[in-house]
Amino acid sequence: MSVVSKVAVVGSGISGAVCASTLARNGVLVTLFDSARGPGGRMSRRRETTEDGKELFFDHGAPFFNVNDSDALALVQDWESKGLVAEWKENFGSLDRSSSKFVDIEQNGLIKKYVGVPGMNSICKALCVEPGVESKFGVGVGKMEWSEDESLWSLTAMDGQKLGLFNGVVASDKNIASPKFTELTGRPPPIEKDLCPGLALKLQDIPVAPCFALMLAFAEPLSSVSHYLLAVLAFVDSSKFNRVDHYRTKLLLQCLSALYSSKCSSSVAYNLLLAEKEKEK
Ligand SMILES: Cc1cc2nc3c(=O)[nH]c(=O)nc-3n(C[C@H](O)[C@H](O)[C@H](O)COP(=O)(O)OP(=O)(O)OC[C@H]3O[C@@H](n4cnc5c(N)ncnc54)[C@H](O)[C@@H]3O)c2cc1C
Repeated sequence: MSVVSKVAVVGSGISGAVCASTLARNGVLVTLFDSARGPGGRMSRRRETTEDGKELFFDHGAPFFNVNDSDALALVQDWESKGLVAEWKENFGSLDRSSSKFVDIEQNGLIKKYVGVPGMNSICKALCVEPGVESKFGVGVGKMEWSEDESLWSLTAMDGQKLGLFNGVVASDKNIASPKFTELTGRPPPIEKDLCPGLALKLQDIPVAPCFALMLAFAEPLSSVSHYLLAVLAFVDSSKFNRVDHYRTKLLLQCLSALYSSKCSSSVAYNLLLAEKEKEK
């Protein structure tokens, strides 16, 4: 059996970044590609500069995560010891529209919530620069071809640039072999479905559901937050550990489609959420 020595990982979201770092720690040389400007995928952090020149950061994708699996917990504890993640010790509740009061407030510590420090992208950022991982951003992989003669994968960028030959490829994004890629880019998917018919069949049925994020920042702490402000999910971004910028209150409102909500895990399937402590301030 040949030993895989050089692997391309496509995508620097949490799954691609963890995969790349795990492979590298096991002696595999990894080249990681992402079409985005930086790492994180749906755990990215948004940076804006306001009109008066101040920097403003938001976790506009996943606002937090929790862990149910013991292997994943070991990984998260390792990140915690390195200061890459911290617990978000706020209790969630649902806002009752008629009374404007919070109900169903979470029991303290029942579900541990974690956030990246200083942003949700910190974990991917650290994993992408581990020894043995070479990361290339702004490079969209447009074609993955299997060479029978060489027993190697050949990767080509969206702009036609040759990206190299690899013993193995890990694609962390479902669009890589899905017809949805064509809808988004007007090009055929990077992997031809004949190369992976089973996978292509499974991927075509995975829905892509949109989610809008509205990022609001206020110079002063808000004494109360009117429920008219709240969309579907509301998070007080400024209540997370080590979020330092000039804004005292930052709200992230995520408006989910019905389809998205129905696919959400119970951890995010609240109707209206707000960190209760922030409301009490
Ligand atoms: C608004 C929102 C709220 C969420 N809330 C939560 C939450 O509260 N808790 C929770 O646990 N999860 C939450 N999630 C889900 C969580 O963010 C995702 O499940 C997770 O981040 C997905 O990681 P991933 O690595 O699988 O994919 P992604 O993060 O999507 O990474 C895929 C990467 O591949 C890259 N890529 C794709 N195609 C190519 C190509 N051809 N060439 C190069 N690069 C390519 C993309 O640029 C991207 O960076 C939320 C997601 C969103 C959007």
